Amino acid sequence: MGYAKVLSVGLAGVAGHLVEVEADLAPGLPAVIISGLPDTALHEARDRVRAAIVNSGQKWPNRRITLNLLPATLPKYGSAFDLAIALAVLAGSGELPPVALDATVVLGELGLDGAVRPVRGTLPMVAAAARAGHTRVVVPAGNAAEAAVIPGVRVHAVDTLHRLVAHVRDGSPLLAPPAHVPACGPAGPDLVDVAGQPLGRRALEIAAAGGHHLALFGPPGAGKTMLAERLPSILPELDDEAALEVTALHSIAGLLPPGGGLLRRPPFQAPHHTATVPALVGGGSGLARPGAVSLAHRGVLFLDEAPEFSKGALEALRQPLESGRVRVARTRGATEYPARTQLVLAANPCPCAKPSGDVDCECPPLARRRYLGRLSGPLLDRVDVQVRLTAVRAAELLSTDAAHESSATVAARVVAARHAAADRWAATGHRVNADVHGPYLRRPPWHLPARVTTDLRRRLDTGSLSARGYDRVLRLAWTIADLDGRDRPGHDDVAEAIQLRTGEVA
Ligand SMILES: [Zn+2]
Repeated sequence: MGYAKVLSVGLAGVAGHLVEVEADLAPGLPAVIISGLPDTALHEARDRVRAAIVNSGQKWPNRRITLNLLPATLPKYGSAFDLAIALAVLAGSGELPPVALDATVVLGELGLDGAVRPVRGTLPMVAAAARAGHTRVVVPAGNAAEAAVIPGVRVHAVDTLHRLVAHVRDGSPLLAPPAHVPACGPAGPDLVDVAGQPLGRRALEIAAAGGHHLALFGPPGAGKTMLAERLPSILPELDDEAALEVTALHSIAGLLPPGGGLLRRPPFQAPHHTATVPALVGGGSGLARPGAVSLAHRGVLFLDEAPEFSKGALEALRQPLESGRVRVARTRGATEYPARTQLVLAANPCPCAKPSGDVDCECPPLARRRYLGRLSGPLLDRVDVQVRLTAVRAAELLSTDAAHESSATVAARVVAARHAAADRWAATGHRVNADVHGPYLRRPPWHLPARVTTDLRRRLDTGSLSARGYDRVLRLAWTIADLDGRDRPGHDDVAEAIQLRTGEVA
């Protein structure tokens, strides 16, 4: 017996593809040849696998070993094939019965001592196995919880190569995956904690209801971060498809919380302004790590002190925000990850971060304009809601007479508004107002009567609003109408939309 084949899975972006790991053992000088577009980590697999086999008390065959990973056209990254390679070698040399693992998909990295280590991306890999009709998978014990999320798959966990070899030989038991964990996510902070700031709360609710990007301008103490962190708490829970996608991205990043379960809450990512471009959009060696913009997929990407981000970083975010996908350059080709995120920008009015008009602020007007101007080109153009917040007065903070609404109360209005919008745009395939194209809103049957848009047209004529700005106001007006349960925006909705749009930076 000189040949064996074991199934595994490779990833292209979040999509997994079945990979056949073939081993052929022939007489000749002992050597190992790996083919099928392997990357560096895969070449290192040869040494890891050999050591793991020997240190598990098995015999390394002194033959000429050819390893082939199919399909050859799929780029293969990382160390998840180690375990499959080890089994193929052992089966090919006659140490294991060849048919024992015929219908099993095997994932796992090997340590030199024969320990089976967790791998990134287990969840999307197991999902791919299930889609291809395979119902039995072997995964590292550290990944068993996330693998168990995929329905219709029997998950077997292993901690050592030795345990798996013993199982294949004589049926001794593998480890059971943890009992199914209910889907949940961290609850996150609640709007009930935010005192005052009615304009900020209103802007947040409208942004949530219409899926609009949001910019919050204001001095320290205005509560910009408090508001931004609470946006996920008023967004709808992720549906099955979105939850799977979001959980898969966090699995590939190696950032799933232990214990498993699907991530059901919209994620929140707040990269620091010193974040590198790869940290924002993805990169790294081996299996590309999704960046903040992908980890915020179907959730919120918060850029605090946005003008402090490097020009390159802001520029790099432009394409993902436009297309909802991000391309991560690799040595061979590129990896694509989803990146449909809601952007929240926060900025102080000037670089010294003191309230404007404050006696301590000595920044000249030009410096202030230039500071916020850093945002205008790449990002601010896409932001529908732009509001200027003032610092919350102490009296407002301490007032206990007006009860603050909780996130649950606001979220209920957001869900109703989103339903109204999704029903209206069903034929276009859009789900939120922010995605609807401007021309579509300006034509029948959705164009608004002249008496409703008088102010808006005057602003367009005088140049105080651009054509793009005009469309953004229309989108916002629809969201405001949806929130208030009207089937069309009226004059007041347009007026509020203008106000939300023209907290604009000069
Ligand atoms: Zn200043």
